[in-house]
Order: sequence, then structure tokens, then C-alpha cells
Amino acid sequence: AMRHLPYFCRGEVVKGFGRGSKELGIPTANFSEQVVESFPSDISTGIYYGWACVGNGDVHKMVLSIGWNPFYKNIKKSVETHIIHTFKEDFYGEILSIVIVGYIRPEKNFDSLDALISAIQEDIEEAKRQLDLPEHLKLKEDNFFHLPEGKIGNN
Ligand code: ADP
Ligand code: MG
Repeated sequence: AMRHLPYFCRGEVVKGFGRGSKELGIPTANFSEQVVESFPSDISTGIYYGWACVGNGDVHKMVLSIGWNPFYKNIKKSVETHIIHTFKEDFYGEILSIVIVGYIRPEKNFDSLDALISAIQEDIEEAKRQLDLPEHLKLKEDNFFHLPEGKIGNN
């Protein structure tokens, strides 16, 4: 799972398939099919952690899921980023830049919504701890996130 990491990626945030992530308190910004297609085809599905930034805003910690997209009968992957930050507004249509830093666990099925939510909370805590390590913190300052003024995004 680590072979492709760190993995840098940038693309537009599109409407997802309404799994109700936001209702669970865990909104996930979805990348377009085109961006997902550009991922290495052998990258493992599962939960990852890394850094993310919307437009040319601040860089925040994130957890990311690479999973199977029910829209395409689970033959195509979906890539969804939950940024560990509270935003005032949605940012559909904006450019999301991410670097995937590490792998947490494979995809799992859960017996209940509560079990799913607590697993995600644990993933978030694990991401926070990992990203505080010096070798991971340095990617937060990567030039990838320092975009030329006004080039992309609108915040
Ligand atoms: P969708 O099915 O359209 O992806 P979600 O319930 O997953 O809907 O919500 C995702 C949207 O919520 C994102 O596209 C973004 O505009 C917004 N959003 C607000 N806060 C966050 C956050 N912290 N992380 C990710 N997306 C967020
Ligand atoms: Mg989503």
C-alpha cells in the first residue's frame, strides 16, 4: 500500500453520490472520475492520511478513503477526502490539493452506523498522531501547496 506514497494529487471537488457523509459529521470531498482514473491502478483501497488544501487556503490534516464506486457497479474507484478542519461553507467546484502520506487500514464493512463512525473517529486520531511526526510534518510545507498567486482556486 505504501509503494506509491507520498502521492501528490490536485483536482476539482465534485458532487458525490450522497452517502450522507455530512449527516454523519464526516463530509468527504470527492474527486472527479477523471482524477481518480489518473491514480495508479494498483493503489490499494482503504483508508489513508495526509495533507490537504482547498484553493490556495491553509494546509490541513486529512483522512482519505480509496474505495469502490457504487455508481459504476464497483468497477471504478472513488477517492474521498475528509479534511480535519471546520469550513464555514461547502467548496464544490474548487481545486483540492492533497498529498497522501501513509496508509491506515483496508476498507471494512461495519455492523452498525455507530461502529462505522467510531472507526472513522479512530482513523482521524491516528492521522493526527502520524502527521505530527517530523518526517510527515515536513510535507505540509511542500512547494506543491505553494501555488502561484491567483492561478487556481478562489479563496
Ligand atoms: P458528497 O456526496 O457530495 O460528497 P458529502 O456529504 O460527502 O457530500 O459532503 C462533501 C462536501 O462537503 C464537500 O464536497 C465540501 O464541499 C463540503 N465540506 C465541508 N467541510 C468539509 C471537510 N471538512 N472535509 C471535506 N469536505 C467538506
Ligand atoms: Mg463525499
